Amino acid sequence: MTVVLVIGSGYAGFEAARKLEKLLVPGEAEVVLISDVDHLDYVSLLPEVAAGVIDPRHNAVSLHRTLRKTRVLLGTVARLDLTARKAFCQHRDGTERALSYDRLILAPGSVPKTFPTPGLEHAFAFRTLAQAVYLRDHLQNQLEIADATDDPAEREAYCTCLVVGAGYSGTEFVAQMQLVAARMLPLFPRVTSVRWVLIDAAPRILPELDRRLGEHATKRLADRGLGIRPETTVDRLEPGRAVLSDGTTLATHTVVWTAGVTPAPLIASLDLPTTAGRLEVTPDLQVPGHPGVFAVGDAAAVPDLTKPGKLCGATAQHATRQGKRAAANVVASLRGEPLRNYRHRDLGFVVDLGGLDAAANPLGIPLSGLPAKVVTRGYHLLAIPTMANKVRVAVDWTLAALIQDQGVRLGFVTDQEARLPGVGSP
Ligand SMILES: Cc1cc2nc3c(=O)[nH]c(=O)nc-3n(C[C@H](O)[C@H](O)[C@H](O)COP(=O)(O)OP(=O)(O)OC[C@H]3O[C@@H](n4cnc5c(N)ncnc54)[C@H](O)[C@@H]3O)c2cc1C
Repeated sequence: MTVVLVIGSGYAGFEAARKLEKLLVPGEAEVVLISDVDHLDYVSLLPEVAAGVIDPRHNAVSLHRTLRKTRVLLGTVARLDLTARKAFCQHRDGTERALSYDRLILAPGSVPKTFPTPGLEHAFAFRTLAQAVYLRDHLQNQLEIADATDDPAEREAYCTCLVVGAGYSGTEFVAQMQLVAARMLPLFPRVTSVRWVLIDAAPRILPELDRRLGEHATKRLADRGLGIRPETTVDRLEPGRAVLSDGTTLATHTVVWTAGVTPAPLIASLDLPTTAGRLEVTPDLQVPGHPGVFAVGDAAAVPDLTKPGKLCGATAQHATRQGKRAAANVVASLRGEPLRNYRHRDLGFVVDLGGLDAAANPLGIPLSGLPAKVVTRGYHLLAIPTMANKVRVAVDWTLAALIQDQGVRLGFVTDQEARLPGVGSP
């Protein structure tokens, strides 16, 4: 039987498999999805998982339960042979399996981008559910230590948190965590405040949003006490301190690295042309010179036909739609029908600033405060792929509005899992 192989279960891979299930008629092709996790992580709500507002399981869409006509294989594709049309998959039990395919959709997404900054092993990553859970626990642990110590300088260091990178992941993270820290303070009487510092090499935060909304977010977060330092980078990290490019040194045990993403390592291993590390594709999402091989999402350099000369942004919106388009093109190619180009005009951005605040520009209309919050939550409720997950998230939001955070640190995630990939632990 013809095999359509999908690699990755992020927005792009998940939607590709779901669309293939809808379009293929019984017996036309087998869909196989390889992923190193058994769920789609709805990454856009990760900051609320870190805040303890959303239960991590509620933010994960089960592949086994949702993709009932797809063969889901858990493992990591370590190597691809595009000429022989084979994928080499490593499974958790240490075994390796070679899988032949007729059509391939590459959707391995991205990983945190790192720089040769000395001491990067002291920073935490914020890209997975486990890391989100870890960071919530870590913050509580810092406050517990700060509350216990008699040394004021030590207490201040444990109550200082640095976030590196002010795109939407860093900004949403810090916005949520400021509020989490404020809610925890009454539990630790000897801690009076937690200091948050957000730095970025760019001249302003949230460069993806229009200037007015970026300014709204900056003002709201600064009013809550956030120290925002544009045009600032990390010179080096050391145990218990961060040395910044503006010449200052912060005593801190919490450095969260959200300084952008780069395509998953599988892409570089292909030795094919890339732009900014993303695999080059034609507007119909095929890899040039490899008919039947498609690439989508953060890992692919997809031309933005609505903005000639530009690439589609690395966003959930594009990844979701590109996954569906690639699936439709795979089916067209199997049936000898013409392929269609990917074209999608951005519907705008939504940025949740925690509490009742947000910034959004749906269809280009700038909104802030409560109206933006309503749009932001409405957007996520529509975009979360299954009814079960929508209901769970909506219930979590309701509970968080009605009852207090439990103030419990579970410690299920190891320190090593929270570190940047390829950098290691201190
Ligand atoms: C905290 C945060 C908040 C964000 N918020 C927003 C937002 O509000 N709006 C927005 O539009 N975008 C947002 N983004 C960006 C958005 O999440 C990404 O653009 C989107 O996740 C890209 O989807 P993807 O399917 O291409 O890749 P990914 O989501 O990265 O998924 C790729 C999957 O493939 C798996 N994989 C990788 N390599 C292999 C391999 N070799 N073998 C098997 N499996 C593999 C990975 O483990 C992963 O599960 C946010 C990102 C972050 C980090």
